[in-house]
Formats: sequence, structure tokens, C-alpha cells
Amino acid sequence: MADLFQSTALKDGKRIVIKIGSALLVDAINGKIHRSWLESLASDIAAARARGQEIVIVTSGAIAVGRRHLDLPQGSLRLEEKQAAAACGNIRLAHAYQEVLGHHQISVAQILVTLEDSENRRRYINARNTIETLLRVGAVPLINENDTVATDEIRFGDNDRLAARVAAMISADTLVLFSDIDGLYTADPSKDPAAEFIPVVRQITPEIEAMAGGSASNVGSGGMTTKIAAAKISLNAGCRMVITRGERTNPLDALENGEKATWFLPEATPMNARKKWISGGLKSMGEVIVDAGAIKALQEGRSLLPIGVKEIIGEFVRGEAVSVKGPDGAEVGRGLIAYGSEDAKKIVGLKSTEIKDALGYIGRDEMIHRDHLVVE
Ligand code: GLU
Repeated sequence: MADLFQSTALKDGKRIVIKIGSALLVDAINGKIHRSWLESLASDIAAARARGQEIVIVTSGAIAVGRRHLDLPQGSLRLEEKQAAAACGNIRLAHAYQEVLGHHQISVAQILVTLEDSENRRRYINARNTIETLLRVGAVPLINENDTVATDEIRFGDNDRLAARVAAMISADTLVLFSDIDGLYTADPSKDPAAEFIPVVRQITPEIEAMAGGSASNVGSGGMTTKIAAAKISLNAGCRMVITRGERTNPLDALENGEKATWFLPEATPMNARKKWISGGLKSMGEVIVDAGAIKALQEGRSLLPIGVKEIIGEFVRGEAVSVKGPDGAEVGRGLIAYGSEDAKKIVGLKSTEIKDALGYIGRDEMIHRDHLVVE
């Protein structure tokens, strides 16, 4: 597992987020979706999934498609025009993905998210659970920003950072940014003939940030600057990221076979990065007092089940950080709890099979899942 984070091989990824830029997907002149290219991507995705890799798509292009379809003016659009274009374009985009992946018997499910969804804890958890559920049932989540409701101040505005947030949210191990730029150079290669290509980046230093110029594309909204910002988010979450030109057909396959690309490699695995965040970065909102049997189970790396819980102290909502304490009050760990305090109190000491009757809905078996738990 540790080797994955030194790896520039796509095939080592288990959970891969692929970001498709507008410039690749949509014809700049007529606003049509590049159908044969998309079909080739779909067959690459089908092959990846057949190898057991999970794929999440973050797609741009809604505004680019919708503006032509609605005959909106050339040049830069006003916010409300962009929103109208996105409302129209997202349907057409989703339809196109559904068709090409449908040929491989793969279902597509669309999720439109806003910046707030990635910052507000409860919405974040809901979005994450939906994506995880879709992956579990074998669908490909298709994600874009919900441009129609986001105002300028609260927009991501570019899908590079959105894709990185999504990757962090679902603990992906690989983020692929397909764009019209083949990677990172020491300077803008279209202006400076001495610009050198950088194949691997391990840390986003001020020098790396300085290498990112403005946007090069006239269709999408991301440039190298937003890609470096995405790399920061991604690496902090323990997810490796790769920037490559996606223009040729079968772009995923090409990347796997050594297409020119810049790889950004993290220092920690997604799980370790996540655990660091849980143990250090979050304020504990309550306490879960557990019995000696539960402590032993936790120390063996298992999840915390309601049956091992003796008492819930404090008020918190589902997904917040809580401190897990033994009968003597000593902290044994910290975790993100799967129930809000009200419901958690109702299932103290119960077997997992009794949760449904106590709550009136089918909840999670675990009070705190081991992936969301750090034991000291
Ligand atoms: N959300 C925008 C769209 O779908 C794209 C943003 C971007 O170009 O990165 O049109």
C-alpha cells in the first residue's frame, strides 16, 4: 500500500477521480460534445472497472454546451447567463455520459454540488455517503458544480479544485486531471522555449506555485493556477494527482501506458491523512464511554459497536468528532460518530440488529466505523 504513493502507475489506483475539462469535451466553435472521444473514455472506464478500480467523474462543460444551445452571446457571460447555460448544459452532459457508459452496462448518477456542500459538515457527509453508496452499487457518480444556485462569491468556479475536494471527501487515492495542458513546466512553454517539463512533484513549494501562470484555455475556466491549488488539496488528503493532456482517444489507457504527465505524489496515504485530521484537526463535540470489551476490540483495529457503549455525553450531530473514553474516563481514541447524540443515546448497549427497532430506520451497524476512528 505504501508503495502506491511513490507510484506513477495509474493501475495502482483503487479509487480514481477523473476530471474532464470543458476544452476536451466540448467543441469550442459549435458547442457539440466530442462524441467519439467520450465513447473512447467510456470504454477505458469500463476496462478500469473490470479490473476492480472505482471511478468517479467530475465533468466540466455544462456552460460550454448550454450557452451554444441557448444561443447566448459570444464572449464572457454574466453570472445569470452562466447559470442558465449550466441548467441547460448539465442535462445534455449527463445524457451523453449515460449513453456512452450505458453501452458498457454502467449506470451513471449525477450529483451537482456547491462549495458549501464541501465545507458544511452535515452536507459534506451526505454528499460523501451518496457517492460511496453509488460506488458500492456499481454506478459511476458524475459530478459537477451546481452552477445554477451558486453565486459568484460562493462558487468554486473551476472544476479542478472541485475535483480535488471530491477526491479528499471520498478518500480517493488518485485524481486525474484531463486537460489541454500536458503537465507542469518551469515556465509557460508557449512563451519560453527554455521551459522544462517536470514529471514528478512531491511538495507544493513556493517555486512550484510560481511556475503556474494564468489560464491557457479559452473554453474552460481552469489554468495551471487552479491545478496547483487542486494539487495542494489533493496531497493534503493523501491522494496522488496527475495532470495530463486528455485530447487523444482512449486517454485513460494512454495515461496507463506512459503518456506524458506530471504526477504529484503525497507523503501520506489517504487513510493516514484522514486519521491525522481526525486526531488533530477536529474539535471533540462529545464523549462516548465504552466498556473494557470495546476497548480491546478498538485496540485490535475493529469498529465501535453500540453494544460496547455505556454512555453518551454531550450534544452533537452525525459525523462530528467525539472522544472515546474508557470506564475510568481515560481517552482511548477519537472518531467521527455515525449517529447524532439523540439517536446515539437511544441505541446505547444494543446489538446492531436491534438498531432498526430502536430508531425506526435502518442505521449503520457501527457507532464509529474503524476507518473514522483513531485509537491512541
Ligand atoms: N462547472 C462549469 C461547467 O460545467 C465548469 C467549470 C470549469 O470549467 O472548470 O460548465
